[in-house]
Amino acid sequence: MRIGPQDALIIVDVQNDFLPPSGALAVPGGDTILPAVNTLTNLPFGVRVATQDWHPADHCSFTAQNGPWPDHCVQGTEGAELSALLRTNGLAAIMRKGMMQPVDSYSAFTDNNGQNPTGLEGYLHTRSIKRVWVCGLAYDVCVADTAQDAARLGFTTYVVEDACASVKTPPAQVAERLQAHGVTIVRVQDMTP
Ligand SMILES: [Zn+2]
Repeated sequence: MRIGPQDALIIVDVQNDFLPPSGALAVPGGDTILPAVNTLTNLPFGVRVATQDWHPADHCSFTAQNGPWPDHCVQGTEGAELSALLRTNGLAAIMRKGMMQPVDSYSAFTDNNGQNPTGLEGYLHTRSIKRVWVCGLAYDVCVADTAQDAARLGFTTYVVEDACASVKTPPAQVAERLQAHGVTIVRVQDMTP
């Protein structure tokens, strides 16, 4: 498929805390997807956006607050920075999420309660984007929720599966869930300038 001005690339949470070997919430194989993600940034997308999980120190998702995850991506820390190995030159915007203490935000479009939009939907519409291509970390959490929301919001939505890594759910299972929501699963080699 040819990538052009009506296509947006969303790079989800390629941050130090999600990357082996030393990230606080390292996604298995998370570091191995970086070449694929960087290859995608070379394609002629109309817009390239990255997201950053960006939590206050007492965020509800942390185990200390009875949440499901160890402390990760605390605002202003090294762990919350985008990986130094990610090519960021072509990024038009960086969307931060998970900033409100009482609610988590897996999707780049809204919090987990669906009540606080980030503004990404309007941003993409303003830039005349019709198709959204999602990659990054973690496939079974923030990538999946971002893709599902994009499809729900009416964008033709693709996940680039070899530019994603999962925390625990096997990729085939994530793909099945996403396909049921109208998302198409592709690989980097399927995409051309
Ligand atoms: Zn988080």
